[in-house]
Amino acid sequence: MLQIGKYRVHSIPSGLFGLDGGAMLGIVPRPLWERSNPPDERNRIELAMRLLLIEGPDRTWLVDTGIGDKFSDKLNGIYNLQGTMLPDVALQAAGFDPATITDVLLTHLHFDHGGGSTRADGNAVFPNARYHVQRRQFEWAREPSLKDGGSFRPDDFMPLYREDRLELIDGRAEIADGIEVLPVDGHTPAMQLVKVSDGAQSLLYTADLVPTTSHLRTPYVMAYDNEPLKTVEEKLTWVGRAADEEWILFFEHDPKTTACRVHRGDRDFAITEEISV
Ligand SMILES: [Zn+2]
Repeated sequence: MLQIGKYRVHSIPSGLFGLDGGAMLGIVPRPLWERSNPPDERNRIELAMRLLLIEGPDRTWLVDTGIGDKFSDKLNGIYNLQGTMLPDVALQAAGFDPATITDVLLTHLHFDHGGGSTRADGNAVFPNARYHVQRRQFEWAREPSLKDGGSFRPDDFMPLYREDRLELIDGRAEIADGIEVLPVDGHTPAMQLVKVSDGAQSLLYTADLVPTTSHLRTPYVMAYDNEPLKTVEEKLTWVGRAADEEWILFFEHDPKTTACRVHRGDRDFAITEEISV
């Protein structure tokens, strides 16, 4: 747990899955990443789905909802799901009451980030919560490109839209005192990073801009990204600010490291210290 101003911030694990190591680490040859990210016999590397709980005096926010439970057995096998939980179960497993969630902040609508927003029967997992996503991301998810269409499943988010549970955000915004959303476009249009800050201490939920600590290195850009050069620019901007202003970076997908501070190295960024959240 971290106390940031009036907020208590907690990491909530929601299980592990596997994605192709080459796709995750982009143009970087396997000999350079296979020791830090050991691939299995099908070339998949292990990834976490780590949610963020932000408890405030009036409202309680959950950032992202994991992969959910709508996959077929075949897809569960392809993505090597291990111990995945719907976010209400993940909260209970971590000792929190899911009924306290007033707001769900979705960084974007890819299935491993928003899949746990609804149940297989179409009902919202948090029936009393508002779900927040950037408007441009929602519009893209409804009509994605042929390249990334496979990452969006309408059953994850269209029931929220039809039941009027979605809040569509336009651009950078302070959605509550000390909680700011920062849209970036390289991975998918208007994915929003989430920054919690009291001025003295800040934490940045990096979503798929920096999915693991390996991606702190500039050329490590996922092949999934729609606009890789934009991702490079956005990493230099936001990780640079984190280095200069000593923000804590929180990693959604790193299987080992939850959060850390970074500093500028010769070419890239390097870990200063790991932080437990
Ligand atoms: Zn994504």
